[in-house]
Amino acid sequence: MLGKSIALLGLLALAAGLAEPLFAQNPINPHSKPRVIVVGVNGAEWDILRPLLVRKQMPNLARVIENGVSGKFKTVSAPNCPKIYSIFATSAPPAENGITGFIVNGDTASSRLLRLPPFWAQLSDIGVTVGLANVPATFPVVPVNGYMISGMLTRGTNCEDGLLCSPKLSQVQGGDAVYPPSLVNEIESKVGDLPLDCARMPQARDLRGHEEMVVRHWLDDVSQIRAQQMKLFDFLLTNHPTDFTFFVQSCEDRTGHWLYPIQPFNVGYDPKLHAVAVDAFPDQYIAFDKVLGMILQHLDANTTLFLISDHGIKPLRDMESHMAHRDHAGTTPIIAKHDFDDGDDVPGVFIAMGPNIKKNVHLIGLPISVFDLAPTILSLYGIQPPTSFRGRVMSEIFEANSPPENTSPVH
Ligand SMILES: [Zn+2]
Repeated sequence: MLGKSIALLGLLALAAGLAEPLFAQNPINPHSKPRVIVVGVNGAEWDILRPLLVRKQMPNLARVIENGVSGKFKTVSAPNCPKIYSIFATSAPPAENGITGFIVNGDTASSRLLRLPPFWAQLSDIGVTVGLANVPATFPVVPVNGYMISGMLTRGTNCEDGLLCSPKLSQVQGGDAVYPPSLVNEIESKVGDLPLDCARMPQARDLRGHEEMVVRHWLDDVSQIRAQQMKLFDFLLTNHPTDFTFFVQSCEDRTGHWLYPIQPFNVGYDPKLHAVAVDAFPDQYIAFDKVLGMILQHLDANTTLFLISDHGIKPLRDMESHMAHRDHAGTTPIIAKHDFDDGDDVPGVFIAMGPNIKKNVHLIGLPISVFDLAPTILSLYGIQPPTSFRGRVMSEIFEANSPPENTSPVH
């Protein structure tokens, strides 16, 4: 395996040397391990991103797309965050990895209920340094060769069930949200007492008669959470750089559920609510583009970047009642969702850019799926996927002769 890794590194170095140094901060070091950064944007939806790209309102995303491979990410039936992030982690279906949704046998999904090792544990075991922040369903955190900060489904004060609320670091209960424990003080002093998930959506009874005020107040909260999260990511990339890094944002999806820019003819349209901040949802992506710009500052020629979403999000259909939704188990009058039985209707976003990734290639259809992330990342480190993996290495996103051989589709 060592020989193969060295050969792979050589290929990466060669390709990186030829690549235009658009994002390169440092020259490639052929003796270092490949660097991989995965950025998850929950519920990122091409229908909303495309107009923003046309209007040139997401310059950083546009640069990544031009310099990489992009397309739809095939998801599964009735997708939601814990379900799909656990597929990302294990390349196995929910029935096998144990995380079937937000609630598993009456309990909130958690790392304790995950039955298969996540791929970052395999990286960690062979000496690759790993860093995770705000990845859904990773609470309580477990030791890794690096750091881990939990995200969505972290439990805490006023968030006892951990369901889509935002406990702060100081409010966490029922397990650790940060590994190693020594990182807690560092984060509190350098970044602050930050929330570990996006804000809970307001309830229908709070909105009634106060729509404009509640919408604006909630969006202010979301902006603050994003600012603090960006500070956290920047702090981690600067002070604790790792070979493999996985960061996730959740506010985009949360906003889309109840502030999707729907029209008067869409199910659930309420002018008092939906005319208040028509751009609230697209604005989340414009804000994300700045986060992406910060992350790009930390890339070198040796880094492969994956930008992914677990699913998209679409307005409710004619036959659905906006009061009878199942998304997020909340009481907010949602007008868009993603847990449609046909997951092909809400594919996620997939974008990759790196030393060995094709440039300006747009994949047609749904050739790659959420099962394929883990085997593809392991392949970059020269690791053969375990037999429990149902996905394949996305060989079509790489330049010829790279990376490795295992491309057999199983799922
Ligand atoms: Zn959602």
